[in-house]
Amino acid sequence: MAQVAEQTKKAKGSVVIVAERCKGCGFCVEFCPPEVLELSTEYNSKGYHTPILAKRDLCTGCDICGMVCPDFAIYGYMFKKKTKEA
Ligand code: SF4
Ligand code: SF4
Repeated sequence: MAQVAEQTKKAKGSVVIVAERCKGCGFCVEFCPPEVLELSTEYNSKGYHTPILAKRDLCTGCDICGMVCPDFAIYGYMFKKKTKEA
């Protein structure tokens, strides 16, 4: 089941993690520019450590984690900016 990281006021974006698809390769952790991901100490049902969004406030939603994940187990998204009403 996909886990959606909780939104914070400071963050520009967040990630969705589908833990059961993850094989714990660590690419997402390694290539995240602001280094906001960590591998969890928990295991998924396949026995792999899955990523967690450790520094929520610093995620930009750039989706580089999603681009490097070979298993489509994570993706980033940017929060919508509030627009001024006319
Ligand atoms: S969306 Fe970008 S900043 Fe956020 S975890 Fe993924 S690579 Fe890192
Ligand atoms: S890149 Fe994908 S498979 Fe590898 S640890 Fe991250 S979420 Fe899991």
